[in-house]
Amino acid sequence: MFKLKKRYTFLLVSLTTLPALSAQAQIQLSGEIKQGGLVIGKTHVNNRVTLNETVLTVSKQGDYVFAFSRDDITQYTLMVTSPNGKVETQTFTPAKREYKISRVEGISKKIMNPNKKANTRAGEDRAAIVKVRKISSDLTAFSQGFIAPRSSRITGVYGSQRFYNGIAKNPHFGVDYAGKIGAPVKAPASGTVLLWVPDMFYSGGTLVIDHGHGITSNFLHLSASMVKVGDKVKQGQVIAKVGNSGRVTGPHLDWRMNWHKVRFDPQLAMKIIPIQ
Ligand SMILES: [Zn+2]
Repeated sequence: MFKLKKRYTFLLVSLTTLPALSAQAQIQLSGEIKQGGLVIGKTHVNNRVTLNETVLTVSKQGDYVFAFSRDDITQYTLMVTSPNGKVETQTFTPAKREYKISRVEGISKKIMNPNKKANTRAGEDRAAIVKVRKISSDLTAFSQGFIAPRSSRITGVYGSQRFYNGIAKNPHFGVDYAGKIGAPVKAPASGTVLLWVPDMFYSGGTLVIDHGHGITSNFLHLSASMVKVGDKVKQGQVIAKVGNSGRVTGPHLDWRMNWHKVRFDPQLAMKIIPIQ
């Protein structure tokens, strides 16, 4: 044991004297430090990056990513440590946002007051979604930025407080796009298909695409998927068709994005300029 420890100490000392390995710790970020914001960072591949207690995955190209939830008021310290022990930190709190209030009328009794069978189904749906959100692949598609999945009008935005038939429900976390049943949905970024369920209770036809490091796109209320679980998709590829399945009053696309459990705003993600 003693011998091992001694060798380790020696190794550390010798590394700090090698100029080739004394890469400077460096923080380079793209994105908004704002509630619902997504931030993409770039650093040297051998650096260690932490956001408070969370260790962030750094890709072979030095990319890492994190996001802020709708009501996040946490003070964060981003710390980048180089192999030679050089540390650079940045401390920030996401800027506060005001959200819209949106009222949706005409939701059916069946959906508003689900029976036992429906509640069981909704629970199973949730479990399936929770499971895929835990996945953290080494894809780096997120670092290329995101494009709109449809070129149509935006009819609903991230964060709005929803009232269904006058009753306060969870905020809306997606961006809604107008579209007729069967209209095309494009991949906002490249990735791998993680989940396709044609008939979830609330979200109807639901497709999840992995963009890497825990970043996923979720497409709701679809009428069909053009891809299957495990398929690789390219940015801009048609992956699904608009529908009116689940809790809806009419056909539209609802696009949601997650960093693991954190739901962030796809419209802020689309503004990100990739770091070269
Ligand atoms: Zn929606």
